[in-house]
Amino acid sequence: MMNQVKTAAEIANIRISGQMLAAVLRYLTPLTVPGVTTKELDRLAAAELERLGGQPAFLGYQGFPGVICISVNDEVVHGIPGPRRIAEGDIVGLDFGVNYQGMITDGAITVPVGEVGAEAKRLLVATQEALTAGIAQVRQGARIGDLSHAIEARLRRDRLGVIEEMCGHGVGHQVHEDPLILNYGRGGTGMRLKAGMTIAIEPMATLGDRHIYVADDHWAIKTSDGSLGAQFEHTVLVTPDGAEILTQ
Ligand code: MG
Repeated sequence: MMNQVKTAAEIANIRISGQMLAAVLRYLTPLTVPGVTTKELDRLAAAELERLGGQPAFLGYQGFPGVICISVNDEVVHGIPGPRRIAEGDIVGLDFGVNYQGMITDGAITVPVGEVGAEAKRLLVATQEALTAGIAQVRQGARIGDLSHAIEARLRRDRLGVIEEMCGHGVGHQVHEDPLILNYGRGGTGMRLKAGMTIAIEPMATLGDRHIYVADDHWAIKTSDGSLGAQFEHTVLVTPDGAEILTQ
C-alpha cells in the first residue's frame, strides 16, 4: 500500500496538482452556459489542463471515457460527457481529477446555469456548506467520524437526501486510497487523521430521498426519485492544526 502520509516532495507536487485542478474548474464555470454540450466542456477541460502542464486523472480510470465527470440535474456524479446540451436552469456537476508528477487531486463543484429555482439554490448552498463543515473538523488527531458527522448534520438541517453508497477518500498516489470518508456518521468514531495525509472530502446530496441507481451507460449515478443531486469536493492536506485546501 502507498504511503498515506505524504513526503514533503510529494506535497509540493500535490499542491501544484490542486492548483491546476482549481484553475480548470474556474475556467470552465463561465463556459457552462445554455447550448454548450457536455462533450465540448470535456474538450475545453482537456485543452486547458494540457496548457497548464497536468494530466487528467479520470480518463481511463476503471475505463471512464471522459476527461471530466459532468453530471446534470438528477445525475449526482460520474456523468460521461456527450451530446447533451446544457439548458438554462440546469445544475451541472463538474468533478475533475488532475495528475501532476504522479500526484493526484480530486475536486468538484456544482454550477447553476443562469437562473435556477429556489430549491436548487438551497441544495447547492447546503451541500457546499456541508463541505466547509467537514473541512472545519480536519486537523491532526481528529477522527474521521467527526468529519462525517459534521457533513451529515449540515445536510440534515436542510432535510436533504444523504447518499450513503459513495463517499470521500484518501487521494494522492491513486484516485482512491484509504481511508474512506463517509458523508454520515458519529463523532468520536473512526481512525485518527495524521498530518501529511491528503484526503478528498465530497458531500453528495439530493432534494429528495437518498436512493440512487446506475444509468444505462454504467457510469452516471442518478437519483431514483428524479430529484436534483449535487456534489462539492476538495482535496485537503491534514496539518497539525487544521486543513490546507489544495483545490481552491
Ligand atoms: Mg472524489
